[in-house]
Amino acid sequence: MAYNKKNKKPMPKKDFRKSNIPTVKPKEANKPKNTELIYRPEMTVSDIALAMDVSNAILIKKLMGLGMMTAVNQVLDRETVELVALEMGYTVKDEVITDLTRYDEMEIVDDPKDLVKRSPIITIMGHVDHGKTTLLDSIRKSRVVSGEAGGITQHIGAYQVEHQGEKITFIDTPGHAAFTEMRARGAKVTDIVILVVAADDGVKPQTIEALQHAKAAKVPIIVAVNKIDKPSANPDNVMSELSSHDLIPETWGGTTPYVMVSALKKMGIDELLDVIILVSEMENLKANPKRLAKGTVIEASLDKGRGAVATVIVENGTLKIGDIIVCGNTFGKIRTMNDDLKRRFTEALPGTPVEITGLDDVPRAGDVFMVFEDEKIARQTAEARASKERETYSKQQKATSLESMFGAQDDGSKVLNLVLKADVQGSIEALKGMLEKIDIEGFHANVVRSGVGSISESDITLASASNAIVIGFNVRPSAAVKSLAESQGVEIRLYNIVYRITEDIEKALKGMLEPTFEDVVTGQAEVRQIFTFSKVGKIAGCMVTDGVIRRDGKATIIRDGVVIYKGEFQQLKRMKDDVKEVRQGFECGISIVNFNDIKEGDIIECAIEKEVEVD
Ligand code: GDP
Repeated sequence: MAYNKKNKKPMPKKDFRKSNIPTVKPKEANKPKNTELIYRPEMTVSDIALAMDVSNAILIKKLMGLGMMTAVNQVLDRETVELVALEMGYTVKDEVITDLTRYDEMEIVDDPKDLVKRSPIITIMGHVDHGKTTLLDSIRKSRVVSGEAGGITQHIGAYQVEHQGEKITFIDTPGHAAFTEMRARGAKVTDIVILVVAADDGVKPQTIEALQHAKAAKVPIIVAVNKIDKPSANPDNVMSELSSHDLIPETWGGTTPYVMVSALKKMGIDELLDVIILVSEMENLKANPKRLAKGTVIEASLDKGRGAVATVIVENGTLKIGDIIVCGNTFGKIRTMNDDLKRRFTEALPGTPVEITGLDDVPRAGDVFMVFEDEKIARQTAEARASKERETYSKQQKATSLESMFGAQDDGSKVLNLVLKADVQGSIEALKGMLEKIDIEGFHANVVRSGVGSISESDITLASASNAIVIGFNVRPSAAVKSLAESQGVEIRLYNIVYRITEDIEKALKGMLEPTFEDVVTGQAEVRQIFTFSKVGKIAGCMVTDGVIRRDGKATIIRDGVVIYKGEFQQLKRMKDDVKEVRQGFECGISIVNFNDIKEGDIIECAIEKEVEVD
């Protein structure tokens, strides 16, 4: 072992892992040559014109020449940008991100010789009750059969099984809510989607929604036809229904693998795992274990004993105990790593899910984490990200502060506008009736739009334009709608119990009422002696007999049980010092604004104004 000569302490082992931070100097990173166009995602026509130093009109004309009609603020895809750049004698170069607060957007470029196979990350989706949870359970239990550690498992949000000597990672949150939420936040964790369809029930709305999400994310789909143990099972029906959605079975000449399973009876599980391995081999999933880790948070929470706990999936690099990481808006040093079997890890390779501790604060699902070499820089990066987010948030808040949600009506009354969406017409009618009846001291709810079906982009636009809140009853917004709502600062509230809606709206209305204030007595003092000063007038030498006297409070002078004056404190002194407050049992000097008639034996009562809740 190497020793530091001076203090004879063992030197820390050198870390040979490569950093994820580009070594390009910020100034030089994006300095284009005369004929280079630095490309950033989401560039508009006018951005590109500016970058090429031509007028918008010239660029639009060029695009027209290429057969494209465009508007100034239209976003162009990379292919179009390349095409038009070529026309104008430019080559396109990708932007190199050097701003560390955008570490999550930084592209990692690996030397192909460092790349090795990594385990695939799987999400299970499908209609409710089609057996997603049961399937996740049966797969988890299959490792007992394969001789791997069984024992008690704890839900950490993801787990890994070994099959044919290969590791497979499953995200342990069935359904597409988590998947779409993460995707809406830009996280692309899943490599393969397993679409579960019950053979006795066939394709349902959520099956279609799930497959649309998987397709949008360009993730390969494996169909697990479940519940084949049931006498009423009709797998052919599932295959033909899904074929009309472009999922044509391999056996019918298509490319989609179908596996017949019974999650409950544990039939077909091995075959499903075989197919996952086959598909992941075709996907050629690779990562570089010789660099510092980068990955995504799957779940996170605050644990009483352990502090912030997060389950992360390492997507590239190797994560080790002691690593300094930035994770969303927080940072920390990896203290412990364990899996769902509570096995401790000292390092986690690409594709591995681990529960980590050591973070300063709880991150959010979908946050990207990355290992930094320098603790100070990590802390600064997390702080800078947090303050950036606060800024955006407060801007959004301003856009929809509760007060601004009130549109003054012609008759002077105030309303809370609502856009109401529900699964069936019956619910709409009932809810509308109940909501429009609410009247809290002249404040009421006003449904500006109601309709059957999921929350759409036009609902959000309308809500944004009319300062409304969107209420969804038994319906959910898609990822795209959710992110539109976020960007426009529109609040979406989802419910499945009617009275919760009315309860919440009543609460919201109450919260919007002008606050009511009440004087609350904080304490009393007794005047024991009067001192007269030529400059300041009379100062009452007092003893605080009860509670506390506060200089910012209101003073009431009581003589023989009768209030003789109400005013403000001019001075509150302890010995010779001005103080903010004096507590029971202490002497103090008090003078009152515009009141010089204070006498020995008077009681000075102090009160402060407090907001009271309206019920
Ligand atoms: P999820 O909502 O998609 O997560 O569905 P669950 O896993 O909770 O399953 C819904 C119901 O279907 C439960 O009562 C399960 O026991 C049952 N179930 C799941 N898989 C099978 C199966 O393969 N065969 C049969 N007969 N029932 C199943």
